[in-house]
Amino acid sequence: MTQKNPTITPEQIQSAAASLHKRWPSYKPLLDFYANIFGTQEDSKRTIDLTPLQLSDEIIKIKAQEKFPLIDITDFVIDLPAATTLLEEICKIAVNANEEMSASSQALAESLKAGKIKPEDLFSALLKGDDIYFQQIIKNAPGLELKVLLFITYSAIAPCLALFAEQLASYRPENDDDVWDKGYCPICGSAPGLAMLQNEGERVLVCSFCRHEWSARRIFCPFCENTDSDTLQYFVVQDDDEYRVDVCENCKRFIKTVDLRKINRIIYSPLEQIATLHLDMKATEAGYISGLGIPV
Ligand SMILES: [Zn+2]
Ligand SMILES: [Zn+2]
Repeated sequence: MTQKNPTITPEQIQSAAASLHKRWPSYKPLLDFYANIFGTQEDSKRTIDLTPLQLSDEIIKIKAQEKFPLIDITDFVIDLPAATTLLEEICKIAVNANEEMSASSQALAESLKAGKIKPEDLFSALLKGDDIYFQQIIKNAPGLELKVLLFITYSAIAPCLALFAEQLASYRPENDDDVWDKGYCPICGSAPGLAMLQNEGERVLVCSFCRHEWSARRIFCPFCENTDSDTLQYFVVQDDDEYRVDVCENCKRFIKTVDLRKINRIIYSPLEQIATLHLDMKATEAGYISGLGIPV
């Protein structure tokens, strides 16, 4: 499948970032960096061509009955030429970022150029969660930090993951009553990374890995599936009612929520994730833990 029209343009992402750093001037360098990365990712979607995964009716029925995610992370298909080009572009952007990022991306770019690291091996190791492979890469590439390597690798395949998930979403029931009540993404099984309250107050969760969005109950912990309202709370920081942090006393995890009813600007969820790092800090200080399992 080829998506010719990305749903959001790099210009719209720049504009979303500008609104956010007007609110929080100290985030400007970080937001500029990420807006650049996200814009390049959205742009790359126009070149991505993925062979659709065919799922049989039987498989879909079983997955729906058992509430299993539609695929395993290793089932994601990557468009290698598109992801390789994006990998190189992201390395270039990261070379101009902060010192740690710059030194690492330089080292990565050199190893890629010398053929010491193969993009396809990086991508497949990330999908397989092959920590040993990444440790070996680090050992053989002085100056390359693991955190940066994982971030750049994930960033290079993120558009493929999103498009593949979008394609698979057509296999999910369209009935609004069929709310997904599990503590993981219905497409790939990863943890949600962000919540949004939409116009009528419907709660939507965004996958931290494939960026799929799905409807969820309001009184529900998206990690441990707790539905007891006495142990599910939220707090806001500095009276800023555009955002809140939902916390669960059962599993002590938290998720940040963007209240779209209070916002009149372009929203691009990966940028909201970055512009709310102070909420992660507050939640962590209060003893809650992030439900995220991916490099951010
Ligand atoms: Zn997912
Ligand atoms: Zn919980």
